[in-house]
Amino acid sequence: MARIAIGGFQHETNTFAPSKADYAAFEHGGGWPGASFGAAVFGAVQGANIPAEGAIQALRAAGHELIGTAWAAASPSAHVTEDAFERITNALVSHLKNSLPVEGVYLDLHGAMVSERYDDGEGELLRRVREAVGPRVPVVASLDLHANVTAAMMRNVDGMVAYRTYPHVDMAETGARAARLLDQTLKAGRRMTGAFHQLDYLTGIPSQCSFIEPCKSIYAEMERLETQHGVALSFTPGFAMADFADCGMSVFGFGFDKAAVGKAVEQLRRTVADSEKDFALELHSPGDAVKRARERGEPGRPVVLADTQDNPGAGGNGDTTGLLRELIRQDSRDAVLGLLVDKESAQRAHEAGQGRTLAFSLGGKSGVENDLPLEGEFAVERLGDGRFTCTGPMFKGFRMQLGPMALLRSRAAPGVRVALATRKAQAADQEMFRHLGVEPRTQRMLGLKSSVHFRADFEPIAKEVLVVKAPGPALADPAEFNWTKLRKGVRLRPLGPTRA
Ligand SMILES: [Zn+2]
Repeated sequence: MARIAIGGFQHETNTFAPSKADYAAFEHGGGWPGASFGAAVFGAVQGANIPAEGAIQALRAAGHELIGTAWAAASPSAHVTEDAFERITNALVSHLKNSLPVEGVYLDLHGAMVSERYDDGEGELLRRVREAVGPRVPVVASLDLHANVTAAMMRNVDGMVAYRTYPHVDMAETGARAARLLDQTLKAGRRMTGAFHQLDYLTGIPSQCSFIEPCKSIYAEMERLETQHGVALSFTPGFAMADFADCGMSVFGFGFDKAAVGKAVEQLRRTVADSEKDFALELHSPGDAVKRARERGEPGRPVVLADTQDNPGAGGNGDTTGLLRELIRQDSRDAVLGLLVDKESAQRAHEAGQGRTLAFSLGGKSGVENDLPLEGEFAVERLGDGRFTCTGPMFKGFRMQLGPMALLRSRAAPGVRVALATRKAQAADQEMFRHLGVEPRTQRMLGLKSSVHFRADFEPIAKEVLVVKAPGPALADPAEFNWTKLRKGVRLRPLGPTRA
């Protein structure tokens, strides 16, 4: 039995997004549990598909004594403010110091955090954790699949594993895998060796789904290599929306046999390098996507339109109107779009009350290029308080608090409805619509502000999925961003140009 400190600090930073993550964003959590400190960490994540919860269960089952430090997460957005980074990091490190001596540390991290001050947020956090516990206490972390892994992160851990599913249905399972690495290290009484490579091309997130090629085959090959070499391997396609030197894809691994670790990680690197051309993805204009959905969607088998570039899970505010505008323009039938995040409109709907029709100026308030509020008359069909528990495979057990919500029906195109929320969350769980009385499967088309996570809960009911390129800050093609800090020589999309 060992004394193990548990902590977590998750943020996925799109440095090109319109809004930053301040301390209040972590206090609230935006779909995640709110920031928690000390022993409160255990209750905060309990029962949810969250890495820390998976690690806690696995470490308890192995008989270890656990000490909570700090756990915080916020919706993806632009930079974490200096204040939020320092308050959360200081809380985690000071709880850790007050708990010393500990024999191990587990951290639930994202791996793509950029703060106002530190380009490599996790690298800095891990450096401070290492400084607090010294060189001999094993520090193990779990990461999101969208981690942009750096040498500084590698240097300060004794083990690290990333999710291997996108949609991330294995978040808790990944925490448990990290816990097993820590347990093995403690039992062996010696450190594992790590190896790490960065790839030299970027990929957009819609093509990183692990249900489809090439990731499906890459992860299958990774598991084969793991068994063959006895090494814990990870492949992180990365988050190509963070403008810093180390942005992009990487592979890494940990094990006791140095030669085997090197060999396995190199073989995985080659597999990913050889898959470059297969990461290309078909994107549809809003006009073409809606036209196709009108032709092919049917109640019971809706066509899903993924409004990927305004994905709140990638730094969007969930309020652009390009796809909604097109649904109305083409007078679509049995169409619902969600979640459109617009606090003022949701409040206005609640003040007017159910059954009333009034003029709205919907969304378009984040100042995203080529995007404006959508003006029109809408009937308030249903209201909700935004409190419900998710049931889909990814967000299972997440207790949502999205503030006042409303379902509006367009007067110009009465077959089009829009689900409004006050706080942002990625439309990746059917409960987000059921909360407003909409059964998603009965629709002909569903417009979802999500890139890939929706596939876990919506693909089983979808006739087909079309990825739509409408206005938003989470560009599907990384080559369209204005990169200023990315290391030289990286191709900005598969087989694409490098930074000028
Ligand atoms: Zn992710």
